[in-house]
Amino acid sequence: MNLSIRIFIALILAVVVGLVAGEEALPFINWWIAPIGTMFINLIKMIIVPIVFTSLVVGMTSLGDIKKLGRIGTKTLVLYLVTTAIAIIIGFGVAGIIHPGIGLSIPSDAAVKVKEAPSIMQVLVAMIPTNPVNSMAKAEILPIIVFALFIGVGILKVGGERADFLVKFFDACAEVCYKVIGMVMQVAPIGVFALLLPVVAKNGPSVLLPLISVIACAAIGSVIHAVSVYSMLAKIWGGISPIRFFRGMSEAMLIAFTTCSSAAALPVNMKNCEEKLGVSREVASFVLPLGATINMDGTALYMGVCSLFIANVFGVDLTGGQMMMIVLTGTLASIGTAGVPGAGLIMLAMVLQSVGLPIEGLALVAGIDRILDMIRTCLNITGDGAVTIVMDREEKRIAKNS
Ligand code: ASP
Repeated sequence: MNLSIRIFIALILAVVVGLVAGEEALPFINWWIAPIGTMFINLIKMIIVPIVFTSLVVGMTSLGDIKKLGRIGTKTLVLYLVTTAIAIIIGFGVAGIIHPGIGLSIPSDAAVKVKEAPSIMQVLVAMIPTNPVNSMAKAEILPIIVFALFIGVGILKVGGERADFLVKFFDACAEVCYKVIGMVMQVAPIGVFALLLPVVAKNGPSVLLPLISVIACAAIGSVIHAVSVYSMLAKIWGGISPIRFFRGMSEAMLIAFTTCSSAAALPVNMKNCEEKLGVSREVASFVLPLGATINMDGTALYMGVCSLFIANVFGVDLTGGQMMMIVLTGTLASIGTAGVPGAGLIMLAMVLQSVGLPIEGLALVAGIDRILDMIRTCLNITGDGAVTIVMDREEKRIAKNS
């Protein structure tokens, strides 16, 4: 049976058993079942640092030769990052209005441990690791990201055989990390059950509504982002009406929605961008694969929604600084998110960790992650299409003027 279905069944089981067992069973559940959930969370935490580092280095090196890509690479990257940051902010906005998770409260030791919010300047200074190994040991995500970006650029600058060796090496390491994640995810149904059971037993039916509100936030946010940002990009820079844009994108969007994989939707996206939206092969074959690897607006929006949801559930008031931090880490994390099902959930763990939010909150969204993944992957590849159109028209304009 498909893993997402098994996780979903575990969620339903936890809800049913938790409701039936009720508060009287809590001592038993806390003693025997809850530790299994903690073991699952520890397994996820175990892989965060290696996966963030290796996949980010790979994401950077997938840009190829920095000089050769020059103009188009930089513009594409900037557009990808800006749209991603906007997506998280929209996620915050929608979640700020709907307040998913309000009404469900899980006081946690972890919540009490939330760090004092640092000032922006402190964040900027702390971003640069004085000792990357120390940052890795302490699982300080932002310095690890910065270090990975430098190593990625360094590899590109070295070039040649030695760089090829390193690219292959980090690619293999990232692949191993994804395999480990695959193994960990095999026990996710048990982990999710063990994490959710105490929550449901303690809180009763009030636990269900917040989950529906998370899905609603992700869906509404995605529609807003697609209709405003992508339509505008396609119209203003691409001269394509929103209707034609979404019609041209619809097949790839459907594939993304059903497979939950940007990588799986890439071939259809390339074909349709060329045939239906008039993008040149040269631009499509560079901008789209890059987008499928590093541009994840849907995932970013989901990170905004979920971190606010988890903060609400654990009774944490996110400060402006912490929100900025989420936008920053979320945008950078999207570079390292692979275009495969479920990758965003792991990256969410990293974003939560970066602001000291309890990772236990993952269990709440893991059970509905497949639905959230469908929504976010659909937005991910639509964003790739919109940016590809902009880059194509930009290149054509430059070619015409020169
Ligand atoms: N499934 C997403 C994608 O392929 C990544 C994610 O899990 O957020 O685009």
